[in-house]
Amino acid sequence: MTGYRFNGGRVLPCEDETVIDRGCVVVEADRIAWVGDADAVPQEFMANGYEEVDTTGFTVMPGLVDGHMHISFGEAESEEELSIYTPAEYRAIRASVDAEKALLAGVTSSCDPGGPYSVAIAVRDAIEAGLVQGPRMACAGRQITTQQGISDGFPSWIGVPESSFGALVRNRDELLQEIRNEVKDGVNVIKIAGSGNSSDEYASFRLEELELAVDESHRLGRPVTIHARSRQSVEYAARAGVDWIMHASYMDEPTLEMVLEKDIPLLPAMTLLVNTLEANRANLSPPMRDRFKRELDAAAAILSEAHRNGATLIGGSESGFAMTPYGEWHAREMELFVDLLGMTHFEALLSMTRNSAITLPQHAEQIGTLTRGKYADLLVVEGKPDQDVTILQDRASIHTIVKAGSPVSPWRPALPRMKHPFEKTHVYTPQVYRFEERAGSSDSYAALISTL
Ligand SMILES: [Zn+2]
Repeated sequence: MTGYRFNGGRVLPCEDETVIDRGCVVVEADRIAWVGDADAVPQEFMANGYEEVDTTGFTVMPGLVDGHMHISFGEAESEEELSIYTPAEYRAIRASVDAEKALLAGVTSSCDPGGPYSVAIAVRDAIEAGLVQGPRMACAGRQITTQQGISDGFPSWIGVPESSFGALVRNRDELLQEIRNEVKDGVNVIKIAGSGNSSDEYASFRLEELELAVDESHRLGRPVTIHARSRQSVEYAARAGVDWIMHASYMDEPTLEMVLEKDIPLLPAMTLLVNTLEANRANLSPPMRDRFKRELDAAAAILSEAHRNGATLIGGSESGFAMTPYGEWHAREMELFVDLLGMTHFEALLSMTRNSAITLPQHAEQIGTLTRGKYADLLVVEGKPDQDVTILQDRASIHTIVKAGSPVSPWRPALPRMKHPFEKTHVYTPQVYRFEERAGSSDSYAALISTL
């Protein structure tokens, strides 16, 4: 067989907002050979070697490109789980299974902006080698940080453990060394931890340090992305000329102007904030709740202004935490772009297809749209995601997933995942056991045991 004709349904090439009402996508080996009107398919693609897939009643669109997924995080419930527990070897096996969950949710490509060890790189390579199945991936290494960045989250007497998702650099020489090591180890992207997680004003690196990091990364052919929530960190990121900025929640007006002028894409990843609020509805302390709400309000205000003024916004889910488990929340960011940033559904759809392709620098020209010559990564979807992007969150509405020209199916039945005790934070007890609580209960140990 030579290839497939996905024929008869709506087609969204996603290069722009074109809708082909009765379209056809021809796939040859791992590439797209032709896209256009079903009535205009060239004769050469009508030959016997092309298997016809009738897509009448469905929409054919590019596979999702999740610009922000941490494949090594293992759905961590705490900072300790994320950075201390679980050996590298187990993380790698776990991540290779998690990668399949993302693919089966329609994510055919994704960028991993940093994690412990070289887990993401190993998963990327195992997928490429055909050992496991998952999205094609671009990876950062450990996130480069100072004591003021997210990746140095423990007290100073603990520091940044070797198993952390961060790499602490103490001076310019160490900054350069870390970049060179990561490039040697095979990263596609350099990730800088440019701020902490609060609105604290400062940036983690001085501007000139950030400029040095960008310069060295670019010299070695790697784009730079940055975690930047605070005002100053976004300003420095824009000044230093990073390739795309994550979050940008507390960006101010002058920085927005610079971002627009330099055409630096923004990747908000608001799903993590919203999911954290929702998941902890019952037990979030008021100060924590207010912190998340304040950030969401700030982000919604400045990022919708960015959108109105023509900034490029990239969809990324920040999957990998317990609040954002793999395979479930990838498409939610697009709904938030509609609800919080005032995008149309089609604009939101482009943010997680066409726009997010740049987060995989080694494949950027080959993914994100249904365009002749690109990888045949496509979804056959029930409904019209260009008019209601939320349908992509429902796995049942994704009828067929094709990656590199091959329809994807699960390699094994989905089993419930057990978390080993060694993956978890060692909690003695969820609350203090008060003397008064013993009152009224049996006195003897034997009686206690009989009640358990
Ligand atoms: Zn992240």
